[in-house]
Amino acid sequence: MSQTPLLQVEHLKKYYSMKTGMFSREKGFVKAVDDISFTLGSGQTIGIVGESGCGKSTMGKTILRLIEPTEGKIILEGEDFTALQGEALKTARRKMKLIFQDPYASLNPRMTVKDIIGENLDIDHTYASKRERDERIAQAMEQTGLNLDFMDRYPHEFSGGQRQRIGIARAIVLQPKLVICDEPVSALDVSIQAKIINLLKQLQNQMGLSYIFISHDLSVVKHISDRVGVMYLGHMMELANKRSLYANPMNPYTQALISAIPKLPGEEDREKIQLTGDVPSPANPPSGCCFHTRCPHAMPICSQVRPELKEVSEDHFCACHLCAKA
Ligand code: SF4
Repeated sequence: MSQTPLLQVEHLKKYYSMKTGMFSREKGFVKAVDDISFTLGSGQTIGIVGESGCGKSTMGKTILRLIEPTEGKIILEGEDFTALQGEALKTARRKMKLIFQDPYASLNPRMTVKDIIGENLDIDHTYASKRERDERIAQAMEQTGLNLDFMDRYPHEFSGGQRQRIGIARAIVLQPKLVICDEPVSALDVSIQAKIINLLKQLQNQMGLSYIFISHDLSVVKHISDRVGVMYLGHMMELANKRSLYANPMNPYTQALISAIPKLPGEEDREKIQLTGDVPSPANPPSGCCFHTRCPHAMPICSQVRPELKEVSEDHFCACHLCAKA
């Protein structure tokens, strides 16, 4: 088995410059993604969680280079994806696809199901005949549990869950290696969420897919991830294998998020950690640790020195001055 991970994200940054005045002078940067690194193995899922505006969706789009990174590298199957241009970029992009958050807004209402799913095939002209195109669309529909009678129907005729299945069929029709799922179930009812998560797991087993699963909901991420990264204001606060992160969260921010997960029947009571204050603006982030303005354990050093993400136990990384002392 190859030891090269499918994906290596190295010190990825996405900064947006802020301009002011009639001469558009630069007055600073919004650091939407600030020095994120992780690896992802073949057939694995990394969950990325954090509150709205923490940079997780921007990170997903930057990995796909739908948004160009400011700095950092994206290595896909050992190849520097960030350095590719033209045909080489187009070819490499076939290996990575995106499932969008909103199944209502992400499908063109004027296109039939067949053409929505076939669009990725058309862009890359990856079929020899119309018959092959139709067969590949039918295969993607069957894999995602869509009735083939739906082919010539339009998105408005379907429920939210069925629309998300169409979005998933569109993503897998080119048989990618990596799918970035950006809040794929947050617009759906809880019962439908479970069905879509199960479908994603089933496709992973069948096709050996890797996922980056982006969500604001730690309980959803738990069901599908092998490893989980917790983001806050563009930074990775904690990154660990799932078992270790949920059983022994080390960063106070992760501890607060986990304490807010509703308790299941039979689970022990846990103290809810109430965070006060709002998430600061990424245009004016706090000095030192970006979480110090809300952290219940903040110390004087926290507002002065930014903690590095360090491995504190096997496959468990934490960015916190308390973790460094542990
Ligand atoms: Fe809290 Fe300080 Fe740790 Fe940041 S470094 S999470 S402020 S204790």
